[in-house]
Amino acid sequence: MAAALLAALLLGCSDDESAGSAGEPAEPSAAAPAADTAEPLAPEAASALPEPALPVPSVADQAATPAPAQVPVLPLEEPAPLISPLPLESEAEALPMLSIIIDDVGNSRAAGERIIALPAPVALAIMPFTRNAQVLATLAAEAGKPVLLHLPMENLAGLAIGEGGLDTGMSRAEFDAQLQASLNAFTPIQGVNNHMGSKLTANRERMDWLMARLAARQLFFVDSRTNKETQAAFAAQAAGVPNVSRDVFLDNERTQVELEREFRLVLARARKQGAAVLIGHPYPETLSFLERQLPELESREGVQLVSVQRLLSRPH
Ligand SMILES: [Zn+2]
Repeated sequence: MAAALLAALLLGCSDDESAGSAGEPAEPSAAAPAADTAEPLAPEAASALPEPALPVPSVADQAATPAPAQVPVLPLEEPAPLISPLPLESEAEALPMLSIIIDDVGNSRAAGERIIALPAPVALAIMPFTRNAQVLATLAAEAGKPVLLHLPMENLAGLAIGEGGLDTGMSRAEFDAQLQASLNAFTPIQGVNNHMGSKLTANRERMDWLMARLAARQLFFVDSRTNKETQAAFAAQAAGVPNVSRDVFLDNERTQVELEREFRLVLARARKQGAAVLIGHPYPETLSFLERQLPELESREGVQLVSVQRLLSRPH
């Protein structure tokens, strides 16, 4: 059983299948005639992430002033710096960290709004050229939630990857033009992760092309790890792109039992490693599960929910 699950993950079919064959959860019928409302906003109209509500003390500040007796309560939505600062002494004893990303966002506005409403800095990984990409990116940024471009990449199964995707058949010029178009599809974009990509991410040269562009635009990368042979993290490292990799897919199976099992698994990983990355999809079952689990998670499980930016450049 476990071997079969592992094999599925290693083959990189999990993301492909869940996103490709099962597809996006159906749009609620009431919202069906939404048409193409996702007119891209002018770049200046789209707000950047708001400043953190509480200033993060600098290392020098921390050294100069002894730690107060009471622990300051940081808002969950606090946007983390792109590159996390060196761990402070107090941080070394901090709770294990869990970061959650929901992939395949952008078709259903209702699903996107449920993700934004979750009581944690859950990242929206939004697909380029989807109907609600821009409005959801704007709403997420206004709420202080991380926004990623969920970039379609060629998979080994030969499944269609959708508009804005990259494949190994492209020349470098074609690859770069397509990548730039996807990066400009909505704003803001703080980082990128791969949609499918079990073929493309295993190609080091293509990953080097990708990371060169992300480095130039100062974006981070999250490797969804749809293939155990992925070269993305190595290429990111070489290009100086802050990166982190997925630990667990939450919803390859959407039963209560399996959602619970994968969630327990990622909590255990977070405790063991100090931090872990969980990726889910905007299925109704997944969103309901997170709506139940995330409130009070820290007091219940001793694991803190953090933005994906908090985990960048940690040894992983
Ligand atoms: Zn995806």
